[in-house]
Amino acid sequence: MNFVKEETTGLHSALYFHCDNCDKTVVLSSDHPSKQKDVNKSVVWGYLNTVQKAGKEKKQHAIDKVNLTVVDRKEIPYITVIVNGGWSKP
Ligand SMILES: [Zn+2]
Repeated sequence: MNFVKEETTGLHSALYFHCDNCDKTVVLSSDHPSKQKDVNKSVVWGYLNTVQKAGKEKKQHAIDKVNLTVVDRKEIPYITVIVNGGWSKP
């Protein structure tokens, strides 16, 4: 798959990828195709997808590092979160 182009409408993006082997083009949308004009929903959709993907990556990273704790006899991956780490220090 090769990236071909990005078409944007407001905050909505459509990413076009083409496969030279089967000559097919796939379009990845930042929103549901029938609701592309609702900018606010597009923003929320994109944000949630980003957060969900980041969460899955953090979960896999915790599993890879064997950062697991037991809750109700189930192993649950965990990460360390530094609260207020971005706050400037006086
Ligand atoms: Zn293909």
